[in-house]
Amino acid sequence: MNAKPNQPLDFDVQRIRTDFPLLGRKVHGKPLVYFDNANTSQKPLQVIEAVDRHYREHNANVARAVHQLGEEATAAYEGARDKLAAWINAASRNDIVLTSGTTQSMNTVAYSFALPRLKPGDAILTTVMEHHANIVPWQLVAARAGATVKAAPINERGELILEKFFEMLTPEVKLACVTHVSNVLGTVNPVREIARECRRRGIPLLVDGSQALPHRPVDVQALGCDFYAFTGHKMLAPTGTGGLWAKREHLQSMPPFFGGGEMIREVRFDGTTFAEPPHKFEAGTPNIAGFAGVGAAIDYVQSIGFDAIRAWEHELLAYATERLREIPGLRIFGEAAEKEPVISFLIEGAQATDMATLLDLEGVAVRSGHHCAHPLMQFYGVPATLRASLAFYNTREEVDVFIAALLKVRKLLM
Ligand code: PMP
Repeated sequence: MNAKPNQPLDFDVQRIRTDFPLLGRKVHGKPLVYFDNANTSQKPLQVIEAVDRHYREHNANVARAVHQLGEEATAAYEGARDKLAAWINAASRNDIVLTSGTTQSMNTVAYSFALPRLKPGDAILTTVMEHHANIVPWQLVAARAGATVKAAPINERGELILEKFFEMLTPEVKLACVTHVSNVLGTVNPVREIARECRRRGIPLLVDGSQALPHRPVDVQALGCDFYAFTGHKMLAPTGTGGLWAKREHLQSMPPFFGGGEMIREVRFDGTTFAEPPHKFEAGTPNIAGFAGVGAAIDYVQSIGFDAIRAWEHELLAYATERLREIPGLRIFGEAAEKEPVISFLIEGAQATDMATLLDLEGVAVRSGHHCAHPLMQFYGVPATLRASLAFYNTREEVDVFIAALLKVRKLLM
């Protein structure tokens, strides 16, 4: 342990950790070091208790019931929409569709927005650094329409080559899709600038916010995009929660994708009419308890504040990067000028999965694999990387444990 804790005065990470019961457990007899936060975050007591309380005290279905419990469940569910709307500065709460996560949000845009607009010869533009959720839905609808999916290139540092992206915004492109933050590289894309160029050409822009919302304040109106998709479980909330923000005019014009209860105005065999957005896109019973947890997650993050979270996470990122660079034969993938706390790497001569398996025996949870980003792996010419992804509840001491474990494992495999 050659580092001295150097915590900002206003950031008491040890106190924060007491809110996360899982962080106190042991794995294979060793204290857990959880560095797989980009995969899913751990949950604070406040979120766990909100879900628990929902089932103990308020459980009922939303919208359908006029009884007290139904009203309480609806208040929790709709309350999450209000909090999300305020959090990402949506112009209206009705511009937020609640979904099971980014994947559902993307597919909603693919089938309700892109597919009806695509003609043979059209294209959707995405980038080489995207998660499969921001590639495969576009491929599915493009194939149906006789359209194609194009991918803008990145440089070796893992940054989008903006000039190329802008060059590729040609008239046949009917939708552009870009991640705000890469789940593999940590790269932060200049979404405002991209949105400006898309607007100049009249091309709608979808932003994948999955890895951005846990780390930075987001203002969808200031970004100037058309769609912003996100997931709850990476930002302290339960799995199976997420959302899609879209400009009102798009939500109005999009036909629904899922049909069923809750999304209709009147059902008739001679013509069904649909509810107004966002309900038009929310067929069936949603993850009500999960959204009670979303509300609690937002309250929790706000109680700490992004200024403190960002300062701490960036200190950890810098420290972990510096310590990793001390390891001989270690290559970092993703050295963009602006990054969030995600570090992908490989050590020469060692398989990523072997390393992750041995690290697990040391209590260190990192992800190994392609991270649902095959095209990015193809770009770097590797089948897999190891990825350490940090959160504000991680510590410098955990980075030290991680580095010591890496050195031990490296020795075993060399
Ligand atoms: N996009 C990115 C950048 C992601 O990191 C993830 C989750 N790994 C997704 C999309 C998909 O999110 P979900 O599985 O929650 O739908």
